[in-house]
Amino acid sequence: MKAIEGHATFKNNLTPATKEKMEQLKNGQAPETFLITCSDSRICPNAMTNTDFGELFVVRNAGNTVPASGEQTGDADAATLEYAVKALGVKEIVVCGHTKCGAVGALMDGVDSSQLPVISKYLDRLQPLKDKAVEAKMSTDQVIIENIKAQLSNILSYDFVKEKVKAGELTLEGWLYQIEDGDVKVVDEIKSL
Ligand SMILES: [Zn+2]
Repeated sequence: MKAIEGHATFKNNLTPATKEKMEQLKNGQAPETFLITCSDSRICPNAMTNTDFGELFVVRNAGNTVPASGEQTGDADAATLEYAVKALGVKEIVVCGHTKCGAVGALMDGVDSSQLPVISKYLDRLQPLKDKAVEAKMSTDQVIIENIKAQLSNILSYDFVKEKVKAGELTLEGWLYQIEDGDVKVVDEIKSL
């Protein structure tokens, strides 16, 4: 189905309560959750967290990654992290990886940089993870989980995140979403420092 057709159905199905909520939200948003997840089409952020308009602030990219502090010059994901924490004051950040992640698979299998130069460059940010995975002979499933933990660690490398966690105003969670059945396993959580 084309997106515009789906949107027509969406508009037709809006309930009066949702319309009222949308009307109120035109004045501003105050989401409590910042979700960083994969671009993979099998993940439906709002459906899987049972959230509605105004409740979820989201970054999606291949492999649900965020660069570490200092590497973020001009990076949209780092900019979005800063906005979520400092401007919106989200209460939790969830990094949601998933089973069968193609980005992690590409990282481990290697990418032909002459064919896919941008992806190849992008995956450079995961090179430390790959080195660790090769050294420890991890399975791809294990690397997917380690990637989630590595991204939490990258997020925590920002001082503005650290301060909020220390103050008890922000928690970080790592989720493994199972695309097969929609289950979520919490693989890491940082509630205090
Ligand atoms: Zn993925």
